[in-house]
Order: sequence, then C-alpha cells, then structure tokens
Amino acid sequence: MEKLKYERPLIKKMNTGIPNKFGQKAAFEPVKYIDEVPVKQLIEKFGSPLFVLSEQRIRRNYRAAVRAFSTRYPKVQFAWSYKTNYLNAVCNIFHQEGSWAEVVSGFEYHKAINNGIPGEQIIFNGPYKDAEALNLAIENGSLIHIDHFDELYNLITLCKSHHKKPKVAVRVNMDTGVYPVWDRFGFNYENGQAWSTITKVLESGVLQLAGLHCHIGTFVLSVNAYKAAASKLCDLAMKCKSQHNHIIQYLDMGGGFPSVNTLKGYHPSGADAIPSIDEYAEVITETILNAGFEKDDLPLLILETGRALIDDAGYLLGTVVANKRLSDGRKATIVDFGVNVLFTSFWYEHKISPAQDATQHTEETVLYGPLCMNIDVLRESVNLPLLNAGDHLVVHKVGAYNMTQWMQFINLRPAVVLIDKSSNVHLIRQPETLEYLQTPELLPDYLKIVHG
Ligand SMILES: *Cc1c(COP(=O)(O)O)cnc(C)c1O
Repeated sequence: MEKLKYERPLIKKMNTGIPNKFGQKAAFEPVKYIDEVPVKQLIEKFGSPLFVLSEQRIRRNYRAAVRAFSTRYPKVQFAWSYKTNYLNAVCNIFHQEGSWAEVVSGFEYHKAINNGIPGEQIIFNGPYKDAEALNLAIENGSLIHIDHFDELYNLITLCKSHHKKPKVAVRVNMDTGVYPVWDRFGFNYENGQAWSTITKVLESGVLQLAGLHCHIGTFVLSVNAYKAAASKLCDLAMKCKSQHNHIIQYLDMGGGFPSVNTLKGYHPSGADAIPSIDEYAEVITETILNAGFEKDDLPLLILETGRALIDDAGYLLGTVVANKRLSDGRKATIVDFGVNVLFTSFWYEHKISPAQDATQHTEETVLYGPLCMNIDVLRESVNLPLLNAGDHLVVHKVGAYNMTQWMQFINLRPAVVLIDKSSNVHLIRQPETLEYLQTPELLPDYLKIVHG
C-alpha cells in the first residue's frame, strides 16, 4: 500500500458568509488527464511549464460557432484572427475547418500566405500595414480594411502602379452602448466620417468597395452592442445602394465574443452571465435579415471570432517551486511559470487545479511566478489545497493570446503540444533554447574577450 500523504494540522478561523472548503470543493478536483493523456506524462516528456492545446475542443468550438450563425443566416464565413493564436498548427486547424485568415500586420500576412491561404481569403486589418505587405495584398487580391485617411490616400496612389482595383472595406467604429467607445480604429459612424470615407472610396474610381467592417471590442458581454453595430453597418450598406447604387458584398462584424473565462473582479452568478454564441448570432443575423436588403443583395456575413473559439482549448501545466509565508502571514506559492508566459493573468482569474490528489484543506494563497519582478502575480488570492514543491498544477482556459503575447524575459518560452482527437500528442512548438535566442545577436570583435 502506498504511504498516505502527510497533511499538516491546521486551525482555521470560521468565516461565516465566505464559502468554506466544502462549498468550493469542486474546484479542487485534481485534473490528472487532458483529453485522456496523463498530465504527469506530458510534463515528464516535454518539460515544465508546458502549454497544451486540445484539437478536439478547438474543432468543437468552431463547429458550434459556425452552426450558430449558418443555421440563422444563409451566407456566413469565419476568418481566424491570427493574433489570438498564430501557431501554424492552430491556424491550419481553423483553415481545414473552412476558415479564412484575418491578419493585422505584415508578419501575420506572410504567415497566412506561408500557410497556403489564397490571397482572396486573407482579410488585412490594422492601423499599420507596411508598404511591402500592402503591395503584396494588392497583388494577391486580399481584402484590405482601411483604418485611416492616410491609408486611403496611400492606397489610391499605390493603385496607379498596380493596374489592379484592390478590394477594400471601410472599418467603422461607433457608439454601441459599451464604453469607452473603441474609436481609435477606423472611421466614426456618428460624426459622419465613415460615410464620407465610403463616398471617397467610391468616387476614387480605383478601389472596389467590397465590404464594411467593425470590431467593437473584446470580451464584449453585451449582446445588444452587436445589435447596434450590425444595424449601423446595415444602415451604411443600404445608403450605398440608395445613394450610389452600389451593392456591399459583405459585412464583417469582427470578433469580441467573450470566452468562458472569469474577468478580474467580475463575479456574475452562474454561467448564464456570459451570453452564449447563439445569443450573439441571433441578434446579429436578425438585424441584418430585417434591414431591408433585397434577397439577391443579402451580404456575406464575416466573423473574426478569436478568443471565444480557443481559450478553453488551452491549458498551461506547471510545477510548484516553493511555499513561503509573507510578512502578514499569508501563504505564498511560487510556481515555474509567470506573467511572462501567462499574459492573460492581468485580465483573468484563471481557474487552477492541482494535477495530483490533493488534501482536503485549502488555504488562501498568493500565487507567484518565478520572475524577479514585483508584478509577477498569477493570482492575488486563490484557494488552493496544500501543494508541495514538485507538485504539478493545471491552469485552465489559456488558449487565447498567451502564445502570441508571451514575452521572453529571464526565462525561455516553453514548448506547446497539441493533443489530437485520438489522444496522440504532437509537439507544435519546441521549447526555446539559449542558442535559438542568441542567433540574431552579434558580438563586436573587441568585446569577444572578457579577460585581458
Ligand atoms: C483581435 C481582433 C479580433 C479577434 O478578437 P477576439 O476578441 O479575440 O474575438 C478580430 N478582429 C480584429 C480586427 C481584431 O483586431
């Protein structure tokens, strides 16, 4: 028989009104497997910390989202938001499912091309599209979403040398009832700037106005904000028809649907506080269907959903380094991953589970990463069972933005693995090495010798 784990005795003051260990017990169920693969085995083979992605979950999320929209509207197209997670394996899962690419920089544009995506299926967003990538996008017939007037005039100039009529959309920002308004991208609806841009594009004679675009925010919990946005885009599209006899081919509603994560300080009661993707689909499609488009003019509906499709497919596995007491008596636990790889800990209260059988006792703990930096706090206060140095942890719902916003600071970035639907594990990004990191470094000759 295996020796039972030592549990140190603990005297705890009773706090009425605060959930006790029994009330929250479910949260401490150990997570020993991800898609049937033992966590321990993953760490043994690929090291700690380690990002793990579930292919099955990604495909399920994607199909559910497509179903939500395409059962309500006849022409729907998703475009994968590269910046949410641009590991090629991830992008190609979405592309295999039928998704186009949505990119916001020259670097991302090239990534999409290298993944084999036809130019016409790349949506090019963002306030800065470098000249090289912009020229390529014109050559390839990509969908260029104009962000500001300087870009519009630049495009008009570039057209002269290309003998092509680039397909463009105007990015529109608007008051959707969610504040502050994201008005730094695109052209404003309320003050008439969006309409005046549309007119300029049409009158230029050298651009094809294919679509209208908006991306109203991220983790937008208001379904009504999308109703407002859709109705304003429809209004502009109808006006294109009535005043310029021009038909808008697509309306791109951007991304911004929330994932099933917990925002810091936001504790709604129950899962129903985060609307389902069906609720967003319902208001958006209903608004477009009732806007008065003639049947043949019904625009293609494009969605650039990012975090909602991948957040819950990602896990971060890690290991406890040490426990200590802070000066005020609070318990602190140090783990081997910090905010450098878990950027979203600035936003979310991540759910954290032990990866092995844990004690019944729990204690309020501050969870620190390994960085020599005061801001390296993963959770300011989380109830955790007693964990010893060497024990493993699983952080949930980390698939969005962490693998693109992670930074290299005093530690190398960890490996990423993908578990396929048959529970085979694929290494999709190697752990970084010192050699990899130093490849671009150059050392002037006179600095090569440190001992004279
Ligand atoms: C980031 C971004 C998205 C994806 O946003 P989510 O909030 O992750 O859904 C979509 N479109 C544009 C233009 C973006 O910048």
